[in-house]
Amino acid sequence: MAGRVENAFCNVRPPGHHAERARAMGFCIFNNVAVGVAHALAQHGLQRVAIADFDVHHGNGTETIFHDDPRVMLCSTFQHPFYPYYGANSGNEHIINAPLPAGTGGGEFRAAVTLHWLPALERFQPELLLISAGFDAHRDDDMAMLNLTESDYAWVTGELKNIAGKYARGRIVSALEGGYELHALGRSALAHIKVLSGL
Ligand SMILES: [Zn+2]
Repeated sequence: MAGRVENAFCNVRPPGHHAERARAMGFCIFNNVAVGVAHALAQHGLQRVAIADFDVHHGNGTETIFHDDPRVMLCSTFQHPFYPYYGANSGNEHIINAPLPAGTGGGEFRAAVTLHWLPALERFQPELLLISAGFDAHRDDDMAMLNLTESDYAWVTGELKNIAGKYARGRIVSALEGGYELHALGRSALAHIKVLSGL
């Protein structure tokens, strides 16, 4: 917000997106991204902040925290039905949930983002974009059963960077969520950071 850097990747653990206002859950203690959004609203006076969450699990904590706050748009893709068994039917005009069946690959993932996230983000025109960057939807990660690859993460990062460039002065704060197969996690995070940094 001070303009010193365009975007940032927070290489943090534990993840945060399952943590609710007053409840730790699913490896998550504090909802890192939600804290960042709340700070942006309260301290920087923003009116529209968007969150994109491509972790394989639905960010139930993030949704419950902001479900009734139209200043915050949450765009999520996640395996469904799957832990935490939330988000398939709870969306509204600023909670954009795109559940994906087990076995979904990059083509269907990109189609869901193109169909559901991007028009909503264009409509919302966020002043700041945060990313819940979980890489556990990678095909090598046996935590779940989606089949994304590094190139899909690079693609979605580029699409989000385009939105941020149009509406948010390029401002993106991405925070690591899940990702449990360490080689795939490293390669995917690298692909994500390369696009963010323009390398
Ligand atoms: Zn996850």
